[in-house]
Amino acid sequence: MPGCAPAPVSEPRHRVLSVSNQQPSIVVVGAGFAGAATAFHLTRMGMERVTILEQEEVPGMHASGRNAAMVRQVVPNESIAALARGGAAFLRHLPRDWPLETDFEQNGSFLLASAGDSARLKQDGDRSRERGVPAEWWPIERIVEAVPILEGSPAEGGLWCPTDGVVDIHGLLQGYLKAAASAGARLRTSSGLRRVVVRQGKICAIQTESDELSADVVVNAAGAWARQVGQLAGASAVPLVPYRRHLFVTKPLDWVEPQWPIVWDLSRDLYFRPESGGLLLCPCDEVAQEAGPAADDPAALQMLADKVTRNYSRLSDLPIRRSWAGLRTLAPDGRFVVGWDSSVGGFFWLAGLAGHGVATSYSVGLLAASLVLQESHGAAPAAFRPDRFL
Ligand SMILES: Cc1cc2nc3c(=O)[nH]c(=O)nc-3n(C[C@H](O)[C@H](O)[C@H](O)COP(=O)(O)OP(=O)(O)OC[C@H]3O[C@@H](n4cnc5c(N)ncnc54)[C@H](O)[C@@H]3O)c2cc1C
Repeated sequence: MPGCAPAPVSEPRHRVLSVSNQQPSIVVVGAGFAGAATAFHLTRMGMERVTILEQEEVPGMHASGRNAAMVRQVVPNESIAALARGGAAFLRHLPRDWPLETDFEQNGSFLLASAGDSARLKQDGDRSRERGVPAEWWPIERIVEAVPILEGSPAEGGLWCPTDGVVDIHGLLQGYLKAAASAGARLRTSSGLRRVVVRQGKICAIQTESDELSADVVVNAAGAWARQVGQLAGASAVPLVPYRRHLFVTKPLDWVEPQWPIVWDLSRDLYFRPESGGLLLCPCDEVAQEAGPAADDPAALQMLADKVTRNYSRLSDLPIRRSWAGLRTLAPDGRFVVGWDSSVGGFFWLAGLAGHGVATSYSVGLLAASLVLQESHGAAPAAFRPDRFL
């Protein structure tokens, strides 16, 4: 195992570029938005030895292919909001050599709220505005004029964010992967990580079901499986939990305007937006489950029915054409987990992207790649540090 020669004890654990004259061998585990965007940036930064391992036959089988595709920039946590602003800016001006057509429909969003939630949302709107995102508080009557189906809404008003929107998640995910591949990254599908070989506290190789690769760095972008991948490496225990959430799409409805914005009632935890001539709706259910396929649970449809009947009666009894569930993976504080592991050299966390992994993908991939290559002095923003749970 040539990559596993003992490292000198004095060698700093996290300086991957100084290991030898050769570029580091970087293995990214997971071809969802986290892994794909990181590989994209690593190759843009000149890395030629990047391998993406994906356990499934095709990328995007889990959260990255089962989400609501919304790009929202007003988020309570400023560290996440900054990444979302960067992500939206990227989508507005895709690079000339972006390999796939990737629509970003900026129809805006209304974030609705009542009572105590309104004050907090107004503050978030003020902060976003100061940072260049147009966000304006509207009374509910004005919002109902724009989206008449909201008549009777119990919300007192909402934030209008005209530069939010919905992105083509297939084009975005495949775009990152294709661009990375054309710059030399290798995508290996049906290739699950089974073992991380660590010598003297430092990664030197990984094993899949079928073979072994030398590795200096492992980027853990395994979504719902991130905790297990951490265990494979003997890394610190980061308490990430996958939570199941359902989406429902109606049949085409002649009263839906395709240019309606996203509507998210934050006080009642319910959102909808136009989709395929009808609506996509979400009751914001949140049930913890183990990493794995997210099974459809009839209780979620009941939850949706209860919420709309109580609050948005004009959305009751809609003809649902299809539904699915996906897993959002969260740290206990809801913040991302990005940075070097404190006990295994070369093990990098990029997980817990919660409900923001699409919107922030460009920026969080950039952050991760920069940290891996030590271009940000090696320290993750404090808000995201993996060792905050130790
Ligand atoms: C219902 C729902 C709605 C959402 N809506 C939005 C939204 O509107 N906007 C937004 O920004 N975000 C949204 N999200 C969140 C977003 O989908 C996630 O944050 C994002 O997709 C996470 O990406 P990821 O790459 O971390 O995880 P994943 O997409 O789960 O990718 C991880 C990959 O790692 C692979 N993997 C795991 N273990 C191994 C292993 N041992 N070896 C090899 N491969 C492995 C998995 O197969 C998987 O493909 C939503 C999520 C859900 C579930």
